[in-house]
Amino acid sequence: MAVPKQRTSKKVKNQRRTHKKLHVPGMVECSNCGELTKPHHVCKSCGHYDGKEVVSN
Ligand SMILES: [Zn+2]
Repeated sequence: MAVPKQRTSKKVKNQRRTHKKLHVPGMVECSNCGELTKPHHVCKSCGHYDGKEVVSN
């Protein structure tokens, strides 16, 4: 059986599975009102998209 020659340092060990584990919410903050909305979708609460009002309430 293979036996590691060197002890893996804490730094290398902690870097192992950090690629895209964090930060996958699928939601972004609206630039107009700060509400959480889906990216590339019109904001449900204020009707803004890309800094412009698309749907008026
Ligand atoms: Zn909004």
